[in-house]
Parts: sequence; C-alpha cells; structure tokens
Amino acid sequence: MKILLSADDIQRRVAEMARQIADDYRGQPVTIVGVLTGCLMFLADIVRHLDLPLRIALLQASSYRGEATAPGELRIQAERLPDLRGRHVLLLDDILDTGQTLAELRVYLRNLGVASLRVGVLLRKEGRQKTPVEVDYCGFDIPDAFVVGYGLDFNDEYRHLPYIAILNR
Ligand code: 5GP
Ligand code: MG
Repeated sequence: MKILLSADDIQRRVAEMARQIADDYRGQPVTIVGVLTGCLMFLADIVRHLDLPLRIALLQASSYRGEATAPGELRIQAERLPDLRGRHVLLLDDILDTGQTLAELRVYLRNLGVASLRVGVLLRKEGRQKTPVEVDYCGFDIPDAFVVGYGLDFNDEYRHLPYIAILNR
C-alpha cells in the first residue's frame, strides 16, 4: 500500500487543527460529536490537544450502498447522544467524500436545537462532493482514491494503522 499521509504528518496537522479550534471557541464549552466508527483515532487525538471545557458524544452513521436498501440511504443511530439543546456542537468525521453523510447529519443535529454547529473532517476528497457541505476545519485535501488507516477501514480492516494509505483494489 502506498502511504499518503505518515503518522507524523497526521499528528502535526491534528495539533494545528486543535489550536485553530481552541482559538475559535475561546473557552466556550463545546460538545464534540464524533461519527463512528471512522472518527475514532482522529477524535481521540484531537481532544487531547483541546484546552476547552469539553464533552464527547458519539453517533453512528452508515450508508447502505448494497442491495438491501436504496442506494445512498443513510442510517443514523443516535440513541447514545445526550441532550444537545443549547450546546455548541462540533461534528467530527473522518472523511468528506460525496458529502451526503455530513449534509444529513448537519440537518439532524440542527433539528435537535443546538446553539451552534461546526463541522471538522480530517480528510476531504477533491472533486467528489455532490452535496455541497461547508466544513469549518479540514485536515487534508486528498486525491480521489480509496484510503484506509487511522480509523478508516475496508471491511472493518486497517483501522488501526497509524498512517493513511491508498488501498489498491
Ligand atoms: P459521504 O457521505 O461523504 O459520501 O461518505 C462519507 C463516508 O464514506 C465516510 O465517513 C467513510 O465512512 C466513507 N468513505 C468515503 N471515502 C472513503 C475512503 O476513501 N476510504 C474509506 N475507508 N471510507 C471512505
Ligand atoms: Mg464514516
């Protein structure tokens, strides 16, 4: 596999993103909402750099592109979310691809009555967005290839890799 982003590249950029986030929120309490499962490493690393009053919450979002459901239908499992009304929410996901996931999650969270909502992604694929999604924080713009590692999987494999690599299929 070809390494696209080394563990060092990622750690350096995640620390920079955390500084920018901390500057923007200026000590306001923030609830980070991570999108499982891909956000695991990114979330765990970035929060350790964030000097802010912080809550962490998780939801799961999966899009079914197989036969069972209509293509692209997004299933949101949010049973574990705390009450987010009036909270400043920062939604974190691993990668912005077509934009469908984050566009739908944004609507979902707004409808819960959050005080403010920002979005952060580690990766954004160039030339792939079909649903326009403005992200407030983006780690890296990457070429249109299938990547794994640092939380990103293929069939639930490769998530543990400390770097991000292009998977040849
Ligand atoms: P979107 O809704 O933006 O099309 O897709 C977002 C989700 O698709 C991501 O959260 C991720 O789970 C998956 N995804 C998109 N591109 C890749 C990729 O290159 N590698 C992996 N492992 N997952 C991807
Ligand atoms: Mg995902």
